[in-house]
Amino acid sequence: MKAIRHGFLTIFLSFFLLSCNAEQTDATPPSSADASDSDAIDLIIAGDTIVTMNADRDVIERGALAIDQGVIIAVGTADEIRAKYSARETLEGGDRIVMPGLINGHSHAAMTLLRGVADDLALMDWLNNYIFPAEVEFVDSEFVRIGTELACWEMIRGGTTTFVDMYYYPDTIAEVVERCGMRALISATVIDQRSPDAEGATDSISKGVGFIDRWKGRHPRISPIFGPHANYTLNAEQLAATREAAMELGVPISIHVSESPFEVQYSKDTYCMTSIALYESIGFFEGPTIAAHVVWPTEDEIPILAERKVGVIHNPTSNMKIASGISPITEMLAAGVRVGLGTDGAASNNDLDMWEEMRLASFLQKVDRMNPEVLPAITVLSMATSGGATAIGLGDSIGSLEVGKRADVIQVAFDDVHHVPTYDVVSHLVYVSDEQDVASVVVDGRVLMREGVMETIDTARVAREASALAAQIQSTLEQRNSNR
Ligand SMILES: [Zn+2]
Repeated sequence: MKAIRHGFLTIFLSFFLLSCNAEQTDATPPSSADASDSDAIDLIIAGDTIVTMNADRDVIERGALAIDQGVIIAVGTADEIRAKYSARETLEGGDRIVMPGLINGHSHAAMTLLRGVADDLALMDWLNNYIFPAEVEFVDSEFVRIGTELACWEMIRGGTTTFVDMYYYPDTIAEVVERCGMRALISATVIDQRSPDAEGATDSISKGVGFIDRWKGRHPRISPIFGPHANYTLNAEQLAATREAAMELGVPISIHVSESPFEVQYSKDTYCMTSIALYESIGFFEGPTIAAHVVWPTEDEIPILAERKVGVIHNPTSNMKIASGISPITEMLAAGVRVGLGTDGAASNNDLDMWEEMRLASFLQKVDRMNPEVLPAITVLSMATSGGATAIGLGDSIGSLEVGKRADVIQVAFDDVHHVPTYDVVSHLVYVSDEQDVASVVVDGRVLMREGVMETIDTARVAREASALAAQIQSTLEQRNSNR
């Protein structure tokens, strides 16, 4: 598709683009790739513009990063970096914007295989009558392997380098992440009902403990965590027990919080408290928490989220599609709440496109407040990078391009016609760019996609396996419908 889109219009415009960028192209020295040079570092990534997303929001024209052993060791102009370092590999920077990899703070990756299986329904109808039964029937370790790999393919293609996942068979998710090279926080789901991999809350907590024991501290890119589903699928004692287990193991929790009016009403009816007040009352926020959605916090609850350093993950597409509501992101940011961005699962989105999340997050706040000044491009770009990293507890190691941080970096191609003209790079990243503009993706210093070519996932195999499994699901569903 990209090749088609680039077609003859690109050829037609190439003279114009080349002449526009002649100065930059000429200024780029040839790449140094002398593998025999023992002093050579692993990788140099160059770009017409480096958007660092550091605290000062520094932007470097004709810049480059030096990367060695998975870490960013220098950030500067391309001339400075090339004068100081030779590298075994260089990702050239002509018509490329270099920025931190995107952070998807809330996903159910394997649900790519349930994409489009049930649309246009309210959350509780969708969950109870379609998703939960389909999961019990179809989800096994093989489903999770194929679905997660399909999701990782889509996320890498779209420039996502880290995701926070919540699904079943977390060992299988971790094995896929290990192979494909992404970074992930992987939740062992805790839910008090029969699920694909457990019989109820107690069983899912004890299986989660096993998963966390197997992976904690074992892999630099994989963090095992707990994922209690919500306060309407677990009671207060079970939520407290999950937190206790997480505290004992020293891991964070990801959970759905205050997602829908149903949840808040359920909490009021059951506990005489709104959702966040309930969590606060049982000491749930005493450990690190990644709270997905938070669409309906009360005015009194927002300061609790800030004080407890809860990482809120905004999922605008899912919130719109399921009509869960519009999260008060503007108020939470003003109160100092840590806010990141996520896609939620592909069954309620229906893709894993963080560029779309950025754009919709901004537009949704603007139209809700009837104020175009709220949630400007740079703020929403931060939610997908540095702010998102802080929200998921990895602010010290990823989210910005700074010396000492892990090298999770993407190059975004700006040579497509839809980027002409470019007056403001940040504006284009948020309001113009899409998944197919991502050229190259690097995680922990390793190239996962190079100029659109996947290095760690066999695209044809994943598509074939996913199609075959989806065909089985479809035929079972059709058979059931015809028997009704
Ligand atoms: Zn979710």
